[in-house]
Amino acid sequence: MSSLPLVRSLFALILLALPVSALARDKADMIVYGDYVLSMEKDGGVLRDGAVAIKDGVIMAVGPRAKINAQYKAAKKISGTDKVLMPGLVNGHTHAAMVLFRGMADDMTLIDWLQNYIFPMEGKFVDADFVRAGAQLACWEMVRGGTTTIVDMYFYPRVAAKVYETCGIRAILGAPMIDYPSPGFKGWDDSFAAGKDFVANFKDPSGKLIPAFAPHGAYTVSPDHLKEVLAAAKAAKAPLMMHVAESPSEMAVMKERYHNTSVRHIAGLGMLDYPLIAAHMVWPDEDEMDMMALGGKTGPIHNPTSNMKTAAGFSPVPQMIAKGINVGLGTDGAASNNDLDMWEEIRLAALIHKGKSGDATVMPADTVLAMATRMGAAAIGLGDVIGSLSPGKRADMIQLTLTSPRMEPLYDIESHLVYVAGSRDVVMTMVDGQVLMQNGKVRTLKAKTVIRDAEVQANKIRAALKAGETPAKN
Ligand SMILES: [Zn+2]
Repeated sequence: MSSLPLVRSLFALILLALPVSALARDKADMIVYGDYVLSMEKDGGVLRDGAVAIKDGVIMAVGPRAKINAQYKAAKKISGTDKVLMPGLVNGHTHAAMVLFRGMADDMTLIDWLQNYIFPMEGKFVDADFVRAGAQLACWEMVRGGTTTIVDMYFYPRVAAKVYETCGIRAILGAPMIDYPSPGFKGWDDSFAAGKDFVANFKDPSGKLIPAFAPHGAYTVSPDHLKEVLAAAKAAKAPLMMHVAESPSEMAVMKERYHNTSVRHIAGLGMLDYPLIAAHMVWPDEDEMDMMALGGKTGPIHNPTSNMKTAAGFSPVPQMIAKGINVGLGTDGAASNNDLDMWEEIRLAALIHKGKSGDATVMPADTVLAMATRMGAAAIGLGDVIGSLSPGKRADMIQLTLTSPRMEPLYDIESHLVYVAGSRDVVMTMVDGQVLMQNGKVRTLKAKTVIRDAEVQANKIRAALKAGETPAKN
């Protein structure tokens, strides 16, 4: 007499008792958890005790921990205990390598600062080594603070791209072009030619680094040249970025030279009919905001710290957003900031428009967080790729720790992220499913090397300042 039939039926019973999911869980590369998960999808709300499954650098699923655990198995897991998980921050306008001019010249007029310090120092020192050291210093700071995508506008973009490839950040790299002499260039013709060559020939197999055209501004590039670069961008289907309506001095030049405003001037050239990353946009009027809203192609980038520091003015951000324009956030270069901390931009964007308008209800926390993520991604033309934790989008995400006494007590996570949190609270930064920073340690760049290389450049600048080559303040 054999007991085999009994064993068989017991086995069958055990199989039936197991949840189906345990037998056929999908394979993920990694699952990242969060006590709080902000997908930043429109009306996505806050998910308590959630998780994100990732495969091949892409988000597969977002949902409650139990559901994701039942559906996916993964060899690598990142704990979410006492953490908030959200999309990485999008810095929509910066000049990364300029971080080497951090704190060199402050508290002066924009013209004095540019003409007597920045332009002479750039002319003297900006070369491939400068950009390598600067981009690496900037990338360390940005990855440490939870920035996962940058729109960079600076010289030697191929050199910067190499640094970003190592660092792991996602970047749109704008080749700068201007009608005047600039580092490496005599004027428009050679800077435009180099930009065209960069956009045509730069290839990045990972897809994280995107070459772009970056004419400086409507007051520094002639209308004919702007038409030329717009046509080139259209032909190459490449991103286009420019400083637009930044300062009262720009507006004065435009009025005198063209009897026009910056926005109407570039609209007349067709630049509102092609996706344009429009840095600053401090001085659009009501009709111009309507034009941008109607066109739906312009992505203004708000740089509150830089705008305050250079006394450029208050951008009408609440009005632009109310009209349905996607407005992003940026740090601008660290020379006018003086850091690359998106959390400060988030907090300032939430505060200064309340102060300016006298209306404490403008720029609520969820709106400002959207500017730094989903809306910012849309403003730079990557709305389908990044900006929210959504299945199919690239796995660019960050975790912040909630264990500090500064975070106590917690009633509303979105409020805390805007008004309390800072770059020091970011404990994990991931781009394309690759962990670039964990527990304060940037994995892809060594802090020691970054500082050493920056010091080599800084010493040259110190010597020039000391020799009185620029009117340095004592
Ligand atoms: Zn700028």
